[in-house]
Amino acid sequence: MTTTTIRLILGDQLNLQHSWFSDVADDKLYVFMEVRQETDYVLHHAQKIIAIFAAMREMARQLSAQGHRVHYLRIDDPANLHSIPANIDLLVAQEKAQRVEYQMPDEWRLDEQLYHHSRQAAIPWVMVDSEHFLTTRHQAADIFAARKQWLMEHFYRQMRVQHQVLMEGSKPVGGQWNYDHDNRKAWRGTPAEPVDRRPLHDHSALWQEIVAAGVQSFGEPHEKQSRWALNREEALEQLTIFIDFGLPHFGDFQDAMSTKAWRLFHSLLSFALNVKMLSPREVIQRAEEAYHTGRVPLAAAEGFIRQILGWREYIRGVYWAHMPAYAEKNFFDHQRPLPAWFWTGKTKMNCLSHAIGQSLEQAHAHHIQRLMVIGNFSLLAGLDPHAVHQWYLGVYIDAFEWVELPNTMGMSQFADGGLLATKPYVSSAAYIDKMSDYCKGCHYDKKSRLGDDACPFNALYWDFFDRNRQKLANNPRIGMAYRQLEKMDDKAIADFQQQAQKIIDRIETL
Ligand code: FAD
Ligand code: SF4
Repeated sequence: MTTTTIRLILGDQLNLQHSWFSDVADDKLYVFMEVRQETDYVLHHAQKIIAIFAAMREMARQLSAQGHRVHYLRIDDPANLHSIPANIDLLVAQEKAQRVEYQMPDEWRLDEQLYHHSRQAAIPWVMVDSEHFLTTRHQAADIFAARKQWLMEHFYRQMRVQHQVLMEGSKPVGGQWNYDHDNRKAWRGTPAEPVDRRPLHDHSALWQEIVAAGVQSFGEPHEKQSRWALNREEALEQLTIFIDFGLPHFGDFQDAMSTKAWRLFHSLLSFALNVKMLSPREVIQRAEEAYHTGRVPLAAAEGFIRQILGWREYIRGVYWAHMPAYAEKNFFDHQRPLPAWFWTGKTKMNCLSHAIGQSLEQAHAHHIQRLMVIGNFSLLAGLDPHAVHQWYLGVYIDAFEWVELPNTMGMSQFADGGLLATKPYVSSAAYIDKMSDYCKGCHYDKKSRLGDDACPFNALYWDFFDRNRQKLANNPRIGMAYRQLEKMDDKAIADFQQQAQKIIDRIETL
């Protein structure tokens, strides 16, 4: 059989709906590869490596079953050169192919690598759209070209109008664009967390191959009982179950945290979305339809749709507008390394022990755990934002740089100086206590500010604002914190500074 075209499919391009697959053509060879280049650019959670490889293998199987020609290089294949361009070049020579095609990569690293390689190649390398997102890479930058400040809400409203989502003509359904103020309830045990109906998979054989190949990882592999969607059918089923059981309460408890329920009413769809098993459009349509048929309240549907139509597309726009410089930002010049308990969860701070422990156990934490527990502590404690970014990029099942980096460096660590977030997302124990049950079982006293038993968040919080006066005091969104600081006498401020220093001195044993 003659191969004229080699078509590369990356591990986060598992989109069976792509127009590439609408015809079966004998001269097209689809190539998947499990390469050290991709397992080793950061230390990954074991479940992330397993889930991506398992889903790649499954998509290759489905394509073959549809009659497409597939070449699959496993991690232990002796012919695997463990570099994407080198493997493609070898295959081009073996197959005498005349053309290489690849889908637009979402990560800067891969985009650069494939672009530069294609410029030197002897045959054409052609990039095509991945047909996944609702916006182009540069649409957000175009929208904000003539404006001083990037603002997600502005972008989101344009997306609602452009895609006619939850709209009545030019007006938002229900008269409001945003129901965020309804979406801030703590969860006290009712309604019950939906049952986890995701199917179980045994990936023991794959995990053995990964370990035998020498790939390093961290976190609990759960190789015998993996629940991450393996294919589009499972992802669609997961979406249906979420719409029926999770979405009705999603809005109310979107920001809640609990030691008794790690998923709460979140969809856990980020993995299926980010590897492109599901399209954002179909997820949005299903949520909108659930509202129109009276199955979910408007606040829940709108809150969920905003995450996908708003935040997800907007974050991608920020990434492409500012890379590669964005990855080097460090507005506060924070340099402290991560404490060792980021890799064990063993800290006496109950909130961090739970949020990190869950991340290591499940390769997942929901947004508020990522932002207001782990990210909050990291920023208050002055951890190096680049080290924080690498941890997030490694630990979460859904972490691909285009979405993880702006969320971590921008939204969570304010390392971009306020390009993405209008204020640093930090809090004392009061917020964590309001939104969770973490403080009840904690070694530390949520109300105390000074002393060995005082919650570390409290002194770190005031110390953070005090030491960053020059950089933050003019920000209107945090005027309140500075007005409170102004009311404190010199002794109170000196006490906070000393307490914060003591906390940092014993950060490894907190
Ligand atoms: P749900 O709560 O059910 O939300 C539905 C969907 O909305 C998600 O699946 C996701 O696709 C989208 N979404 C929600 N918030 C965001 C956001 N801020 N940015 C982009 N998409 C969003 N999300 C990732 O997909 N990958 C990451 O690597 C990632 N890193 C993050 C790091 C930090 C510091 C923070 C604060 C957030 C990060 N997020 C990331 C966003 C968010 O936390 C996850 O998308 C969400 O927790 C995934 O779980 P879920 O599918 O149950 O989401
Ligand atoms: Fe976290 Fe402080 Fe509450 Fe303990 S008291 S759980 S450290 S916020």
